[in-house]
Amino acid sequence: RYVLGIETSCDETAASIVKNGTEIVANVVASQIESHKRFGGVVPEIASRHHVEQITIVIEEALKQAEMVPEQLHAVAVTEGPGLVGALLVGVNAAKAFAFAHQLPLIGVHHIAGHIYANRLEQEMQFPLLALVISGGHTELIYMKEHGSFEVIGETRDDAAGEAYDKVARTLNLPYPGGPHIDRLAHTSSNPVPFPRVWLEEDTYDFSFSGLKSAVLNYMHNATQRGEEVLPEDVAAGFQNSVVEVVTGKTLRAAEEYKVQQVIAAGGVAANKGLRNSLEKEFKKLGIPFYIPSLPLCTDNAAMIAAAGSVMFEKGIRSNMAMNGRPGMEMSSWI
Ligand code: ATP
Ligand code: MG
Ligand code: FE
Repeated sequence: RYVLGIETSCDETAASIVKNGTEIVANVVASQIESHKRFGGVVPEIASRHHVEQITIVIEEALKQAEMVPEQLHAVAVTEGPGLVGALLVGVNAAKAFAFAHQLPLIGVHHIAGHIYANRLEQEMQFPLLALVISGGHTELIYMKEHGSFEVIGETRDDAAGEAYDKVARTLNLPYPGGPHIDRLAHTSSNPVPFPRVWLEEDTYDFSFSGLKSAVLNYMHNATQRGEEVLPEDVAAGFQNSVVEVVTGKTLRAAEEYKVQQVIAAGGVAANKGLRNSLEKEFKKLGIPFYIPSLPLCTDNAAMIAAAGSVMFEKGIRSNMAMNGRPGMEMSSWI
Protein backbone atom coordinates (compact mmCIF):
# COMPACT_ATOMS: atom_id res chain seq x y z
CA ARG A 1 0.00 0.00 0.00
CA TYR A 2 1.24 3.48 -0.91
CA VAL A 3 0.16 6.54 1.08
CA LEU A 4 0.88 10.13 0.06
CA GLY A 5 1.58 12.33 3.11
CA ILE A 6 1.24 16.12 3.18
CA GLU A 7 2.46 18.39 5.99
CA THR A 8 2.08 22.20 6.21
CA SER A 9 1.36 22.87 9.91
CA CYS A 10 4.20 25.31 10.49
CA ASP A 11 7.08 26.44 8.31
CA GLU A 12 7.95 23.44 6.17
CA THR A 13 5.98 22.48 3.08
CA ALA A 14 6.39 18.74 2.75
CA ALA A 15 5.13 15.77 0.73
CA SER A 16 6.17 12.14 0.93
CA ILE A 17 5.16 8.69 -0.25
CA VAL A 18 5.44 5.78 2.20
CA LYS A 19 5.01 2.09 1.40
CA ASN A 20 3.23 -0.18 3.92
CA GLY A 21 3.65 2.41 6.67
CA THR A 22 7.32 1.62 7.10
CA GLU A 23 9.28 2.39 3.94
CA ILE A 24 10.00 5.84 2.51
CA VAL A 25 9.85 5.90 -1.28
CA ALA A 26 9.91 9.70 -1.61
CA ASN A 27 10.45 12.48 0.90
CA VAL A 28 10.43 16.17 -0.06
CA VAL A 29 10.72 19.07 2.40
CA ALA A 30 10.76 22.74 1.37
CA SER A 31 11.94 24.71 4.38
CA GLN A 32 11.07 28.38 4.86
CA ILE A 33 13.62 29.06 7.58
CA GLU A 34 15.46 31.68 5.49
CA SER A 35 12.28 33.76 5.10
CA HIS A 36 11.47 33.77 8.82
CA LYS A 37 15.01 34.18 10.16
CA ARG A 38 15.12 37.97 10.06
CA PHE A 39 11.91 38.13 12.12
CA GLY A 40 13.35 35.77 14.75
CA GLY A 41 10.41 33.38 14.48
CA VAL A 42 7.70 32.06 12.19
CA VAL A 43 5.44 34.78 10.75
CA PRO A 44 2.06 33.11 10.05
CA GLU A 45 1.12 35.16 6.97
CA ILE A 46 4.49 34.55 5.35
CA ALA A 47 4.23 30.84 6.15
CA SER A 48 0.82 30.53 4.45
CA ARG A 49 1.99 32.34 1.36
CA HIS A 50 5.04 30.11 1.00
CA HIS A 51 2.91 26.99 1.44
CA VAL A 52 0.62 28.16 -1.37
CA GLU A 53 3.63 28.70 -3.64
CA GLN A 54 5.30 25.39 -2.78
CA ILE A 55 2.58 22.81 -2.19
CA THR A 56 1.96 21.71 -5.78
CA ILE A 57 5.69 21.64 -6.47
CA VAL A 58 6.52 19.39 -3.51
CA ILE A 59 3.69 16.95 -4.29
CA GLU A 60 4.81 16.68 -7.93
CA GLU A 61 8.42 16.29 -6.79
CA ALA A 62 7.45 13.44 -4.44
CA LEU A 63 5.67 11.59 -7.27
CA LYS A 64 8.70 12.15 -9.50
CA GLN A 65 11.14 10.87 -6.85
CA ALA A 66 8.98 7.77 -6.36
CA GLU A 67 8.57 7.36 -10.14
CA MET A 68 4.87 6.91 -9.53
CA VAL A 69 1.60 8.24 -10.92
CA PRO A 70 -1.33 9.19 -8.65
CA GLU A 71 -3.27 6.09 -9.79
CA GLN A 72 -0.74 3.90 -7.97
CA LEU A 73 -1.52 5.51 -4.60
CA HIS A 74 -4.02 4.07 -2.09
CA ALA A 75 -4.70 7.08 0.17
CA VAL A 76 -3.82 10.68 0.98
CA ALA A 77 -2.89 11.57 4.58
CA VAL A 78 -2.57 15.19 5.68
CA THR A 79 -1.83 17.06 8.90
CA GLU A 80 -5.24 18.21 10.16
CA GLY A 81 -3.83 19.92 13.30
CA PRO A 82 -2.53 21.32 15.54
CA GLY A 83 -0.64 24.19 13.93
CA LEU A 84 -1.08 27.60 12.33
CA VAL A 85 -4.57 27.80 10.88
CA GLY A 86 -3.62 29.48 7.60
CA ALA A 87 -0.74 27.06 7.13
CA LEU A 88 -2.83 23.94 7.88
CA LEU A 89 -5.53 25.04 5.43
CA VAL A 90 -3.13 24.99 2.50
CA GLY A 91 -2.20 21.35 3.10
CA VAL A 92 -5.74 20.26 3.91
CA ASN A 93 -7.14 21.87 0.77
CA ALA A 94 -4.38 20.44 -1.41
CA ALA A 95 -5.05 16.98 0.05
CA LYS A 96 -8.80 17.29 -0.52
CA ALA A 97 -8.30 18.41 -4.12
CA PHE A 98 -5.81 15.59 -4.79
CA ALA A 99 -8.03 12.97 -3.16
CA PHE A 100 -11.08 14.18 -5.09
CA ALA A 101 -9.29 14.38 -8.44
CA HIS A 102 -7.87 10.86 -8.11
CA GLN A 103 -10.73 9.28 -6.13
CA LEU A 104 -8.56 8.39 -3.14
CA PRO A 105 -9.51 8.04 0.54
CA LEU A 106 -8.57 11.06 2.66
CA ILE A 107 -7.12 10.78 6.19
CA GLY A 108 -6.60 13.67 8.65
CA VAL A 109 -3.59 13.06 10.89
CA HIS A 110 -2.64 14.62 14.24
CA HIS A 111 0.79 16.25 13.84
CA ILE A 112 2.13 14.75 17.09
CA ALA A 113 0.96 11.25 16.15
CA GLY A 114 3.05 11.90 13.04
CA HIS A 115 6.14 12.80 15.08
CA ILE A 116 5.72 9.56 17.05
CA TYR A 117 5.24 7.40 13.94
CA ALA A 118 8.42 8.81 12.36
CA ASN A 119 10.07 6.08 14.44
CA ARG A 120 8.26 3.33 12.58
CA LEU A 121 10.12 4.33 9.39
CA GLU A 122 13.35 3.18 11.06
CA GLN A 123 12.44 0.41 13.50
CA GLU A 124 9.54 -1.68 14.66
CA MET A 125 7.46 -0.25 17.50
CA GLN A 126 7.18 -2.50 20.59
CA PHE A 127 4.24 -2.08 22.97
CA PRO A 128 3.60 -0.94 25.63
CA LEU A 129 5.65 2.04 24.56
CA LEU A 130 6.54 5.44 26.01
CA ALA A 131 6.98 8.38 23.61
CA LEU A 132 8.72 11.59 24.56
CA VAL A 133 7.49 14.27 22.16
CA ILE A 134 9.70 17.30 22.45
CA SER A 135 9.34 19.96 19.77
CA GLY A 136 8.75 23.64 19.03
CA GLY A 137 5.18 23.56 20.32
CA HIS A 138 4.97 20.42 22.49
CA THR A 139 6.66 18.68 25.40
CA GLU A 140 4.70 15.53 26.24
CA LEU A 141 5.09 12.04 27.60
CA ILE A 142 2.65 9.71 25.86
CA TYR A 143 1.92 6.12 26.87
CA MET A 144 0.85 3.76 24.07
CA LYS A 145 -0.43 0.32 24.94
CA GLU A 146 -0.85 -0.54 21.25
CA HIS A 147 -0.89 1.06 17.77
CA GLY A 148 -3.07 4.17 17.70
CA SER A 149 -3.64 4.30 21.46
CA PHE A 150 -2.38 7.54 23.00
CA GLU A 151 -2.53 8.44 26.67
CA VAL A 152 -0.89 11.77 27.53
CA ILE A 153 0.60 11.22 31.00
CA GLY A 154 2.53 14.49 31.18
CA GLU A 155 2.70 17.75 29.28
CA THR A 156 4.10 21.25 29.59
CA ARG A 157 2.15 23.70 31.71
CA ASP A 158 3.62 26.71 29.94
CA ASP A 159 6.33 26.92 27.25
CA ALA A 160 7.35 23.98 25.11
CA ALA A 161 11.02 23.01 25.34
CA GLY A 162 11.74 24.17 21.78
CA GLU A 163 10.04 27.49 22.45
CA ALA A 164 12.28 27.99 25.52
CA TYR A 165 15.33 27.07 23.43
CA ASP A 166 14.38 29.61 20.77
CA LYS A 167 13.71 32.39 23.31
CA VAL A 168 16.95 31.82 25.20
CA ALA A 169 18.81 31.75 21.88
CA ARG A 170 17.29 35.09 20.99
CA THR A 171 18.57 36.74 24.19
CA LEU A 172 22.02 35.37 23.30
CA ASN A 173 21.66 36.94 19.83
CA LEU A 174 21.79 33.58 18.09
CA PRO A 175 19.94 33.10 14.78
CA TYR A 176 16.51 31.44 14.52
CA PRO A 177 15.84 28.58 15.11
CA GLY A 178 18.09 28.73 18.15
CA GLY A 179 18.02 25.12 19.38
CA PRO A 180 20.92 23.82 17.28
CA HIS A 181 23.06 26.89 18.11
CA ILE A 182 22.57 26.50 21.88
CA ASP A 183 23.33 22.78 21.52
CA ARG A 184 26.59 23.52 19.68
CA LEU A 185 27.66 26.29 22.13
CA ALA A 186 26.76 24.21 25.21
CA HIS A 187 29.40 21.64 24.34
CA THR A 188 32.18 24.27 24.42
CA SER A 189 31.51 25.52 27.97
CA SER A 190 33.73 24.62 30.90
CA ASN A 191 31.73 26.56 33.48
CA PRO A 192 27.93 26.18 33.03
CA VAL A 193 25.75 28.69 34.91
CA PRO A 194 23.84 26.81 37.65
CA PHE A 195 20.22 27.50 36.64
CA PRO A 196 17.36 25.90 38.64
CA ARG A 197 15.85 22.46 37.87
CA VAL A 198 12.07 22.70 37.68
CA TRP A 199 10.60 19.36 38.81
CA LEU A 200 7.12 20.59 39.93
CA GLU A 201 5.26 18.22 42.33
CA GLU A 202 7.05 15.01 43.12
CA ASP A 203 4.61 12.67 41.36
CA THR A 204 3.83 14.67 38.23
CA TYR A 205 5.07 14.00 34.69
CA ASP A 206 4.21 17.57 33.67
CA PHE A 207 6.91 20.00 32.64
CA SER A 208 7.44 23.73 33.06
CA PHE A 209 10.06 25.75 31.20
CA SER A 210 8.97 29.36 31.64
CA GLY A 211 10.63 29.69 35.07
CA LEU A 212 13.93 28.47 33.66
CA LYS A 213 13.57 30.84 30.71
CA SER A 214 12.96 33.77 33.13
CA ALA A 215 15.98 32.73 35.20
CA VAL A 216 18.13 32.98 32.08
CA LEU A 217 16.69 36.38 31.13
CA ASN A 218 17.23 37.71 34.68
CA TYR A 219 20.77 36.43 34.72
CA MET A 220 21.53 38.21 31.43
CA HIS A 221 19.84 41.40 32.61
CA ASN A 222 21.69 41.51 35.95
CA ALA A 223 25.04 40.82 34.34
CA THR A 224 24.52 43.64 31.84
CA GLN A 225 23.53 46.06 34.63
CA ARG A 226 26.61 45.23 36.62
CA GLY A 227 28.74 45.50 33.50
CA GLU A 228 29.88 41.89 33.89
CA GLU A 229 30.96 39.87 30.93
CA VAL A 230 28.67 36.97 30.02
CA LEU A 231 30.08 33.95 28.24
CA PRO A 232 27.24 32.79 25.97
CA GLU A 233 28.48 29.20 26.05
CA ASP A 234 28.17 29.12 29.86
CA VAL A 235 24.57 30.37 29.68
CA ALA A 236 23.77 27.92 26.87
CA ALA A 237 25.30 24.99 28.77
CA GLY A 238 23.60 25.94 32.05
CA PHE A 239 20.22 26.18 30.35
CA GLN A 240 20.68 22.96 28.39
CA ASN A 241 21.87 21.02 31.47
CA SER A 242 18.72 22.02 33.32
CA VAL A 243 16.42 20.96 30.45
CA VAL A 244 18.28 17.69 29.87
CA GLU A 245 18.36 16.69 33.53
CA VAL A 246 14.63 17.25 34.10
CA VAL A 247 13.48 15.71 30.80
CA THR A 248 15.73 12.67 31.28
CA GLY A 249 14.61 12.23 34.90
CA LYS A 250 10.90 12.32 34.14
CA THR A 251 11.17 10.09 31.08
CA LEU A 252 13.10 7.47 33.07
CA ARG A 253 10.63 7.49 35.95
CA ALA A 254 7.65 7.14 33.56
CA ALA A 255 9.31 4.28 31.66
CA GLU A 256 9.85 2.39 34.93
CA GLU A 257 6.42 3.07 36.38
CA TYR A 258 4.59 2.04 33.20
CA LYS A 259 6.91 -0.94 32.60
CA VAL A 260 7.27 -0.23 28.89
CA GLN A 261 9.00 -2.41 26.30
CA GLN A 262 10.41 0.52 24.39
CA VAL A 263 10.99 4.27 24.71
CA ILE A 264 11.07 6.53 21.67
CA ALA A 265 11.74 10.24 21.31
CA ALA A 266 10.39 12.51 18.61
CA GLY A 267 10.18 16.17 17.60
CA GLY A 268 12.79 18.81 16.74
CA VAL A 269 14.36 19.03 20.22
CA ALA A 270 14.98 15.25 20.12
CA ALA A 271 17.75 16.27 17.70
CA ASN A 272 19.57 17.81 20.69
CA LYS A 273 22.93 16.09 21.24
CA GLY A 274 23.02 16.69 24.99
CA LEU A 275 19.55 15.19 25.39
CA ARG A 276 20.21 12.23 23.09
CA ASN A 277 23.42 11.35 24.94
CA SER A 278 21.79 11.58 28.33
CA LEU A 279 18.72 9.50 27.38
CA GLU A 280 20.81 6.89 25.54
CA LYS A 281 23.16 6.49 28.49
CA GLU A 282 20.42 6.23 31.15
CA PHE A 283 18.19 3.81 29.23
CA LYS A 284 21.18 1.61 28.50
CA LYS A 285 21.79 1.40 32.24
CA LEU A 286 18.12 0.52 32.81
CA GLY A 287 18.12 -2.03 29.98
CA ILE A 288 15.09 -0.53 28.19
CA PRO A 289 15.41 -0.20 24.39
CA PHE A 290 15.50 3.49 23.43
CA TYR A 291 15.32 5.01 19.93
CA ILE A 292 15.42 8.43 18.31
CA PRO A 293 14.79 8.86 14.58
CA SER A 294 17.58 10.26 12.42
CA LEU A 295 17.67 14.06 12.30
CA PRO A 296 15.60 14.71 9.13
CA LEU A 297 12.80 12.58 10.61
CA CYS A 298 12.91 14.39 13.99
CA THR A 299 11.98 17.77 12.53
CA ASP A 300 8.81 18.38 10.51
CA ASN A 301 8.37 16.17 7.44
CA ALA A 302 5.56 14.46 5.55
CA ALA A 303 6.92 10.90 5.76
CA MET A 304 5.87 10.81 9.42
CA ILE A 305 2.35 11.92 8.43
CA ALA A 306 2.17 9.21 5.77
CA ALA A 307 3.49 6.65 8.31
CA ALA A 308 0.78 7.52 10.86
CA GLY A 309 -1.82 7.79 8.08
CA SER A 310 -0.94 4.29 6.87
CA VAL A 311 -1.84 2.75 10.23
CA MET A 312 -5.06 4.79 10.36
CA PHE A 313 -5.84 3.64 6.81
CA GLU A 314 -5.47 -0.03 7.79
CA LYS A 315 -7.75 0.63 10.78
CA GLY A 316 -10.40 1.93 8.39
CA ILE A 317 -10.28 5.54 9.55
CA ARG A 318 -11.36 8.06 6.90
CA SER A 319 -11.99 11.79 6.79
CA ASN A 320 -14.43 13.44 4.43
CA MET A 321 -14.48 16.50 2.20
CA ALA A 322 -15.74 18.64 5.12
CA MET A 323 -12.34 18.31 6.81
CA ASN A 324 -10.88 21.62 7.95
CA GLY A 325 -7.59 22.62 9.53
CA ARG A 326 -7.85 22.30 13.34
CA PRO A 327 -5.29 24.62 14.98
CA GLY A 328 -6.04 23.37 18.52
CA MET A 329 -6.69 19.71 17.63
CA GLU A 330 -6.51 17.36 20.66
CA MET A 331 -4.82 14.01 20.41
CA SER A 332 -7.25 11.10 20.42
CA SER A 333 -6.79 7.37 19.95
CA TRP A 334 -7.60 5.56 16.70
CA ILE A 335 -10.26 3.18 17.93
P1 ATP B 1 5.25 21.12 16.86
O1 ATP B 1 5.71 19.85 16.28
O2 ATP B 1 5.14 21.06 18.36
O3 ATP B 1 4.05 21.67 16.21
P2 ATP B 1 7.36 22.32 15.37
O4 ATP B 1 6.89 21.38 14.33
O5 ATP B 1 7.59 23.75 15.03
O6 ATP B 1 6.40 22.22 16.63
P3 ATP B 1 9.75 20.86 15.23
O7 ATP B 1 9.91 21.26 13.82
O8 ATP B 1 9.50 19.46 15.57
O9 ATP B 1 8.69 21.76 15.98
O10 ATP B 1 11.04 21.35 16.04
C1 ATP B 1 11.50 22.67 15.95
C2 ATP B 1 12.14 23.03 17.27
O11 ATP B 1 13.26 22.15 17.52
C3 ATP B 1 12.70 24.46 17.32
O12 ATP B 1 12.27 25.04 18.52
C4 ATP B 1 14.22 24.24 17.30
O13 ATP B 1 14.93 25.25 17.98
C5 ATP B 1 14.33 22.92 18.02
N1 ATP B 1 15.59 22.21 17.74
C6 ATP B 1 16.07 21.76 16.55
N2 ATP B 1 17.29 21.22 16.70
C7 ATP B 1 17.60 21.33 18.03
C8 ATP B 1 18.72 20.97 18.83
N3 ATP B 1 19.81 20.38 18.32
N4 ATP B 1 18.66 21.26 20.16
C9 ATP B 1 17.58 21.84 20.71
N5 ATP B 1 16.51 22.22 20.00
C10 ATP B 1 16.51 21.97 18.68
MG1 MG C 1 9.27 23.49 12.09
FE1 FE D 1 6.45 19.37 14.47
